[in-house]
Amino acid sequence: MNPHSHARPGIRRLTPYQPGKPVEELERELGIEGSIKLASNENPLGASPRVADAITRALTEVERYPDGGGVVLRRAIGERLGVKDDTITLGNGSNDVLDLIARVFAGPGDEIVFSQHSFAVYPIATQAVGADAVVTPAVEFGHDLVAMAKAVTARTRIVFVANPNNPTGTWNTRDEIRALLESVSEEVIVVIDEAYAEYVEDERYPDTLAWLGEFPNLVVTRTFSKIYGLASLRIGYSISSPEIADLINRVRHPFNVNSLAQQAALAALEDEEFVAASRRANSDGMTQLESGFRDLGLQWIPSVGNFLTVDVGRDAGPVYDALLHKGVIVRPVANYGLPNHLRISIGLAEENDRCLTALREVLV
Ligand SMILES: *Cc1c(COP(=O)(O)O)cnc(C)c1O
Repeated sequence: MNPHSHARPGIRRLTPYQPGKPVEELERELGIEGSIKLASNENPLGASPRVADAITRALTEVERYPDGGGVVLRRAIGERLGVKDDTITLGNGSNDVLDLIARVFAGPGDEIVFSQHSFAVYPIATQAVGADAVVTPAVEFGHDLVAMAKAVTARTRIVFVANPNNPTGTWNTRDEIRALLESVSEEVIVVIDEAYAEYVEDERYPDTLAWLGEFPNLVVTRTFSKIYGLASLRIGYSISSPEIADLINRVRHPFNVNSLAQQAALAALEDEEFVAASRRANSDGMTQLESGFRDLGLQWIPSVGNFLTVDVGRDAGPVYDALLHKGVIVRPVANYGLPNHLRISIGLAEENDRCLTALREVLV
């Protein structure tokens, strides 16, 4: 029996998401140590100190199943965001929720629209349910929401918009997102993936949650992986109408979010000072990297996330390798259609400095 020939066509065509290798593994392979990882948009400050305490307390009950409804956490998130808790669906990372949304609303013969250079999970979620991806061309590396609205057909079930987008760091304004929602039929689910929302300081960034009552097809996703620094625990969520939340809940694994993650998220949510400090550090690091790139004569894509995607002016593969040998781990983005770019997560000041020095040495 050849399992490959039995797999569903979408799965057969699927290129798996390529996570970065663990640091220890890379160091062993290359025979180096003390390397820095600026490859996965993690928070260089770690997580709030309250998180460790919350997890330690939760450790006394590891034998118990988690709260499958995430009651306390959903209430806390709801209060923080000013939405009712029946609009919130918890996921094992927001990737989980994106996947569930695809499973609920799309299948073979349906179309899912997203942009060129957009987050890798959208094509995976699309192919996994056997739907067809409709990919609109990017403009200046960012989403062209007018083109995305035009790409919607009678077969379209979902539009995925990453705002800001990963790996480009580009974003869309309130007016652009609203225009998309106004021009797309209510029959089409519009997912606005706001994994980096807490980093964005521009006044033109939309408050999409305020529009939930107006657009019953709107789903917003957020995560604890980025500014809250809980990437390893896997916890994210969506905010939608209670009707959509109910549908997602039907396919959600009842215990998809473990207790340690729930307790950690509760603690992280309370520490607003940590979030503010993370935002400041990110903004400083962004300035530092940008000025370093400028000195090196490099172009980068303006970003509002916690990473910068820089054009190294040549095939980025060998540059990535050379940086790796200097113990600086960044992210090649050729698989996103950006063969000359590298995505660099903003680190601590000394990490950014080391990355810039390594880049300088490698690019001579
Ligand atoms: C990191 C990221 C996510 C969040 O993933 P989690 O599963 O919550 O860790 C979602 N969308 C985008 C665009 C991202 O970059």
